Amino acid sequence: MKRNQAVILGCRVDMLATEQCIDRIAKYIETGITAHVITLNAEIVYQARTNPELLEIINQAALVTPDGIGIVWGGRQLGYLIPERVSGIDLFWRMCAAAAAKGWKIYLLGSSPGVAEQAAERLQASFPGLDICGSHHGYFQAAEEAAIIADVNRRQADILVVSLGAPRQETWISQHHKDLSVPVCIGVGGSLDVIAGNKRRAPGWVIKMNLEWLYRLLSEPSRWRRQLALPKFVGLILTSKYKLEHQRKK
Ligand code: UDP
Repeated sequence: MKRNQAVILGCRVDMLATEQCIDRIAKYIETGITAHVITLNAEIVYQARTNPELLEIINQAALVTPDGIGIVWGGRQLGYLIPERVSGIDLFWRMCAAAAAKGWKIYLLGSSPGVAEQAAERLQASFPGLDICGSHHGYFQAAEEAAIIADVNRRQADILVVSLGAPRQETWISQHHKDLSVPVCIGVGGSLDVIAGNKRRAPGWVIKMNLEWLYRLLSEPSRWRRQLALPKFVGLILTSKYKLEHQRKK
């Protein structure tokens, strides 16, 4: 599959809009290609600079979407035509609509006990006919992993949605990919909490103003340490842009 990609601080990002991502996911399911889908944000890109294993996971994923306005902004600064932000929760929601229409089975893995079941109920109420074929919370021991993977495989899920937080979910998927007979594995961060109604997403106008990161910082102040990566990411992008322009002038 030919890919139109941006390279942002060493991370490859697919320049696709949400609907095109859904078409790709449909292809993976129809052809049985096993695909790791990553919704990439600036914090993960910043971490990948000093974590070669994470960088490799990102660059080997079948599909990497520009989650977070930082990636969209950064890509555009570097001259890439990134069509739009494709956040984990928006892609997940849209994927559920497609799954209900096409009969894809979804397995939910992650978040505190009870959250995935509550999210499943809400999703099935929003998308009649949606088949959530199984779920498991995200506070398991390494010794329990084989049983969880066997459950996902036995239930013949088409999509495994993993909500363990980034980048742990990406590392987990990469580690277990070969044992999972699921066409699509995708990490969605705290989306199950939002869908279950335990956490609120920013209001629409805040999202439209590209300030969702600020809303998260104010509503979850404990994230400040993680979010320190954001100004550093901006600095690195501006430095890359300056270097690129300098090279072009030579
Ligand atoms: N989580 C989990 N197992 C763990 C640690 C975290 O299932 O060992 C879940 C947690 O309950 C939450 C999600 O992972 O639902 C992380 O959400 P967050 O909003 O922090 O995601 P991120 O911003 O990292 O994508």
